[in-house]
Amino acid sequence: MKTSLDTSRQGDLATGDDLYGFAKELYPICRSITGDGLRETLRRIQKKIPLELHEVPSGTDVFDWTVPKEWNIRDAYIKNSSGARVVDFHQSNLHVLNYSTSVRANMTLDELRPHFFTIPEHPDWIPYRTSYYKEQWGFCLTHNQLAALEEGEYEVCIDSTLEDGHLTYGECYLPGESEEEVLISTHACHPSLANDNLSGITVATHLAQYLAGRKLRYSYRFLFIPGTIGAVTWLARNHEMTGRIRHGLVLTGIGDRGGFHYKKSRRGTAEVDRAAAHALGHSGEESELLEYSPYGYDERQYCSPGFNLPVGCLMRSVWGTFPEYHTSADNLDFIQPESLAASLRLCTSIVDILESNRRYLNQNPFCEPQLGKRNLYRSTGGESIGKEINARLWVLNLSDGEHSLLDIAERSALPFPVISAAAKVLCEAGLLALTGV
Ligand code: ZN
Repeated sequence: MKTSLDTSRQGDLATGDDLYGFAKELYPICRSITGDGLRETLRRIQKKIPLELHEVPSGTDVFDWTVPKEWNIRDAYIKNSSGARVVDFHQSNLHVLNYSTSVRANMTLDELRPHFFTIPEHPDWIPYRTSYYKEQWGFCLTHNQLAALEEGEYEVCIDSTLEDGHLTYGECYLPGESEEEVLISTHACHPSLANDNLSGITVATHLAQYLAGRKLRYSYRFLFIPGTIGAVTWLARNHEMTGRIRHGLVLTGIGDRGGFHYKKSRRGTAEVDRAAAHALGHSGEESELLEYSPYGYDERQYCSPGFNLPVGCLMRSVWGTFPEYHTSADNLDFIQPESLAASLRLCTSIVDILESNRRYLNQNPFCEPQLGKRNLYRSTGGESIGKEINARLWVLNLSDGEHSLLDIAERSALPFPVISAAAKVLCEAGLLALTGV
């Protein structure tokens, strides 16, 4: 029955370089909420984990939303009168307003200005802008680039298509002993932005890779979806089975140098909220817990009142609070291998808690059992002698069928893996039995 993942043996966990390498591979692709960039990204993920691609036709009604037309882009530029590209999509895909309609025209600088987006306070950065639900065209450029443009005529081209097609999302299902599920969701719809989308993609991919082929208590469902519309679409198509989701995490912005932030589910005291808080508290990493709010990432959809799923959101720096957010400065220098690796380790710690958190019953509840005669009053390791025996006493005392191992870990302030190990030893000694919950 015991299915602890034993994350103390993490030898087969991807390294920071593996994680970063995958982010680097995906970085140049021009993703959006639909189209070939998103598809290509999902296909690269598919090379690492068993990912099923779903295609949902444009025009499909999904709750109060409609699946939009599919957007694809091949080229975009602004050429000056000598034919030189002064703005070039192939230098950065952020240069084009994401979901921009096509245009081919000759225009003066003044005619072009209403179509430009810049960030004057960071004159070397290109902003990331989208226009998913309003058809328009535009260019994003550095403020310095704009300042350098001379009056005169320019040739403008955005070679894009916006037509009926599909919305694509990827789903990776890893079956466990139970049909009850852990949902891991990450958005995959941003173009060349590293922390905001690639960090979540690479950590989720490698978490799935780590869990695949293991004996699992829960089944795991990984979603790689376009933000908002992807989550809405998935929920609309899977309304019936959402009752199976016991725990969930949205992973986003977890590659930068900032400390961790865990945003609780709407429920606030869901097991995943407590597991994340406990794992963070014992991780040695800087961290902060945030209460639920109805803005942010796809937890907004999973935690909408009709679903109210126990899904929290794990981040490092909180979106919108750092200047690099949604700009070209959220690049491969903004994330680092060590941060990605620590984020993946944290995810496995949370998963390990969820997998191993059960209730047990003390088989010898009248006074303390004599641990010494069972050779349990001595630590197997060296330094943690106090902690190990302490954990056994806590587990014996609170294992009345009411308290889970996470309850005991919280109350004893001991790390979950120590409590879990104590339960294992006590079970083997016949002093503890699973209550079946
Ligand atoms: Zn974003």
